[in-house]
Amino acid sequence: MDDLRLSPLNIPGVDENKRPLVIAGPCSAETEEQVMNTARQLAGRGCKIFRAGVWKPRTKPGGFEGMGEAALPWLQRVKAETGMLTATEVAMPKHVEAALNAGIDLLWIGARTTANPFAMQEIADSLKGADIPVLVKNPVNPDIELWIGALERINGAGITRLGAIHRGFSSIDQKIYRNAPMWHIPIELHRRHPELPIICDPSHIGGRRDLIAPLCQQAMDMGFRGLIVESHCNPDSAWSDAKQQVLPEVLDFILDRLVIRENVETTESLSALRKQIDTLDNDLMELLTRRMRISREIATYKKEHNMAVVQTGRYSEILDKRGAQGSLCGMDADFVRKIFETIHEESVRQQMELINK
Ligand code: PEP
Ligand code: MN
Repeated sequence: MDDLRLSPLNIPGVDENKRPLVIAGPCSAETEEQVMNTARQLAGRGCKIFRAGVWKPRTKPGGFEGMGEAALPWLQRVKAETGMLTATEVAMPKHVEAALNAGIDLLWIGARTTANPFAMQEIADSLKGADIPVLVKNPVNPDIELWIGALERINGAGITRLGAIHRGFSSIDQKIYRNAPMWHIPIELHRRHPELPIICDPSHIGGRRDLIAPLCQQAMDMGFRGLIVESHCNPDSAWSDAKQQVLPEVLDFILDRLVIRENVETTESLSALRKQIDTLDNDLMELLTRRMRISREIATYKKEHNMAVVQTGRYSEILDKRGAQGSLCGMDADFVRKIFETIHEESVRQQMELINK
């Protein structure tokens, strides 16, 4: 199968054409009180879909793994008392069964699950015959085929109310974001499946409260369909992802100030072009970070082998090669040499620091 059979998400009470579609709620359902308190505040500010993780796949054992089925009645209470629809993550067939039995309205697949085709197939099989919207998060690794494969498996089970969530990708380098956005990947997904709604998850991309607002705006400017944002009645005391959760009133403030520009994809406006520059600059920063890391690995090698930090032959080689390449690409050779001199200088500084430690 290389195509998706899609129908509108058709979420009751949510206008299919109005951006952003917003899903908000805590990373995890912790206690009935925390769930109800957060839900009431979100509902009071107009939120229509409440998210809460009930089963939490954790990278390492020992973290809070979710309350499990015991939390499902809390979500039912949210729906009954606030009118919001409910959404939760499923990672195994038994989660699907319990969530469907509890009347959960929307399911999503987490990034760690999407990366596992066997798990995806089992979940897909357990969804056969169900009529529920399912959102598939990107896998933790930047592999668009794996992401599309997971969407195809769910679609193959007859789920046509399908969407994707972009939550960024793991990388070993230190960076601004918790998960590198690599915007070109969701953009490519959109190019291949223009009808598939893509929701942005600024919380897991940013990993920090202060990044939520700019990421929400960036997602809207790039034409994403909606936002899934972690919001907690007491973020600092959250049992998971405390640093990235925002108060319901803060989320309301952020959403209120969003500028929604329509036809973002077709107008070659200045701001759209600037967004592309920002994206490329981010990519440059990530590449530079990666280059510095390799350079520090080289320093360790040099230290172990008692070698000098600066090897002049290698230095001239880099400058000449890149200068010539710069001319070929229509740039001034001197300009390119200067850039690489500066990068090399910082590289040497970091190597010296490591070697003299
Ligand atoms: C979550 O949404 O709380 C979550 C665990 O996200 P992800 O699968 O993107 O890590
Ligand atoms: Mn989370």
